[in-house]
Amino acid sequence: MRIDLHCHSTASDGTDTPAELMRNAAAAGLDVVALTDHDTTRGYAEAIAALPAGLTLVPGAELSCRVDGVSMHMLAYLFDPEEPALLAERELVRDDRVPRAKGMVAKLNELGVPVTWEQVERIAAGGSVGRPHVASALVELGVVETVSDAFTEEWLADGGRAYVAKHETDPFEAIRLVKTAGGVCVFAHPAAAKRGRTVPESAIAEMAAAGLDGIEVDHMDHDAEARERLRGLAKDLGLLVTGSSDYHGSRKTVALGAYTTDPEVYGEITRRATGAFPVPGAGGA
Ligand code: AMP
Ligand code: FE
Ligand code: FE
Ligand code: ZN
Repeated sequence: MRIDLHCHSTASDGTDTPAELMRNAAAAGLDVVALTDHDTTRGYAEAIAALPAGLTLVPGAELSCRVDGVSMHMLAYLFDPEEPALLAERELVRDDRVPRAKGMVAKLNELGVPVTWEQVERIAAGGSVGRPHVASALVELGVVETVSDAFTEEWLADGGRAYVAKHETDPFEAIRLVKTAGGVCVFAHPAAAKRGRTVPESAIAEMAAAGLDGIEVDHMDHDAEARERLRGLAKDLGLLVTGSSDYHGSRKTVALGAYTTDPEVYGEITRRATGAFPVPGAGGA
């Protein structure tokens, strides 16, 4: 069983449509794929409609959070997408992404970069708008060579010259909301230091006590030492350990299934969830 629990589509900052993502996941030999777009469930319907036989979809989302001034991402799986409180919080974060992106465009204009909101809006194409879309605009304009090159102090990195913060949920509130909606919470790439400051272990322990289910350990942004440390932490705190590609299509170089989750952990996630079920592909098989 090959299980990839963290992937993005054009519903947020990935470049595969949800349908393309499902086809590519099957082609990559995956048995289970989670759709975890930033702060949205908008891709679900298209993904389900396109699901090939032999592939199971885990509906999810990656929630933008912040604790003690540190931004972090919380993966939420198998929650009820219509549960009103969590739905309202997703909308709040997603809606704030628009003025925030316009703010980054304004800062870039002040820095002499002729990027426009219309350009960013076209690139985002209705998806949850984020820095990678602004980064793609900078690539189009020839300001940087790759999306990753835009995530520096000079441009869009946390605290960078053109960075603007957005509304982000307190992770303890996110855990409460996801649990109320019957979902399971996994702290995404907790040791991804190159993205900025990381959350201290003491705070992860508090989250574990507040109902956090697991931490993502096998991720491209974690080196061998970070993975060892996180595995130890998970053991101490009784947390599940996941692995995933955090696939973003052509906006990142990582391939689908580059990192995977143990089938036993996946089984435990599905047993804990009460808000939704994994969707097996019918696909005319
Ligand atoms: P936002 O949610 O708009 O603040 O943007 C955060 C997203 O930017 C992350 O989810 C990643 O998709 C992307 N990102 C963050 N750091 C990098 C990086 N160094 N290179 C490429 N993409 C990145
Ligand atoms: Fe992303
Ligand atoms: Fe993330
Ligand atoms: Zn992600």
